[in-house]
Amino acid sequence: MSNVTIRNIKTICTAPAGINLIVIKVETSEPGLYGLGCATFAYRHKAVRLMADEYLCPLLVGCDVADIEDIWQIMNNNSYWRNGPITNNAISGVDMALWDIKGKMANMPLYDLLGGRSRMAVKVYRHADGGTLEQVASNVKRFMDEGVGHVRIQWGGYGGRGRGKRPEGAPEGVYYDPDQYIRDTVGLFEYIRENVGWEVELLHDTHERVPPIKAVGLAKELERFRLFFLEDLLSPEQSDWFRIIRQQTTTPLAMGELFNNPKEWDYLIANRLIDFIRVHISQIGGITPARKLMILCEAFGIRTAWHGPGDVSPVGHAANIHLDMVAPNFGIQEWAGIGDRLSEVFPGSPELRGGYVYVSDKPGLGIDIDETAAAQYPCSEGVTVWTQTRLPDGTANTP
Ligand code: MG
Repeated sequence: MSNVTIRNIKTICTAPAGINLIVIKVETSEPGLYGLGCATFAYRHKAVRLMADEYLCPLLVGCDVADIEDIWQIMNNNSYWRNGPITNNAISGVDMALWDIKGKMANMPLYDLLGGRSRMAVKVYRHADGGTLEQVASNVKRFMDEGVGHVRIQWGGYGGRGRGKRPEGAPEGVYYDPDQYIRDTVGLFEYIRENVGWEVELLHDTHERVPPIKAVGLAKELERFRLFFLEDLLSPEQSDWFRIIRQQTTTPLAMGELFNNPKEWDYLIANRLIDFIRVHISQIGGITPARKLMILCEAFGIRTAWHGPGDVSPVGHAANIHLDMVAPNFGIQEWAGIGDRLSEVFPGSPELRGGYVYVSDKPGLGIDIDETAAAQYPCSEGVTVWTQTRLPDGTANTP
């Protein structure tokens, strides 16, 4: 116990890079002492804000900031129905902020509080895409020249460049053709291995866009290119197919960015059906559950690869990197990059240098928010388009 209590929970919505971010600031009874946490659910940001402002704030004002585990359990159980993305992201915002506060009170960076460093910096993978094979190859080489050893390759974005021939009257949406995507992806790996070579670790994100039996075939066909990992080969609803894939190929498998509920990952881990866990930490409820998940995976020989795209705030990236610094079973960290506008709004953001990301060694998460700067970049309203994905005949499919 600390005798420092939660005074207020404040929700800050900002979009410095054009993506809606939600950060929660937990203010305490101690003047000047506060913490920050990532609550980013970019496509439902107002729902998360309402959850934090209207439900978590009244629940938690007056609680001792030291009691993170108890506060996490109360937040999770208080709504009775649990494990949903809106509640989990709001919980994460508070949870990360409480870890930030604990680090500040202990005068330790979070990685020290969680057990100390296993490494000096965190190796990352970058994203190489392109409209042509030549463009993808030149983007891979550019990252290699910058010292990055791991590159995710895509040809024409998620679902590939094939859009298919639409029937008359087909609704608007983002169209893709799974068969062409599979052919193109095998061709992409052939081209990159022939023209760039074997001195780079290659990754690929299937983004759950192929039917399960074709996913089995794709993982087998890609085996000869020796991927670092193949990501989101199946939708969470089809996870049982990993048992079949496991019997067919040694292509390493990464899974988890859509997971909300421990029941989505526990059997995959306990049965060693995946090689990398890559949950979106705010989506599962913050550092408290992520730390437990990391330790569970260690026991089963599964490595971490936390989700690190543009729809994570720099506060969330800092949380990822602190856990990466500690984990003996760290695998790789996705790094979408933090540009100038984000760094201006979030001073102390982690920094990429020579293929490694370095996190601030200031107490807690080591990152701050300039609320005046954040207010200059309001979140966008309206309907999300990129998730309106369809097969060539117009059938709605997983994004
Ligand atoms: Mg992904």
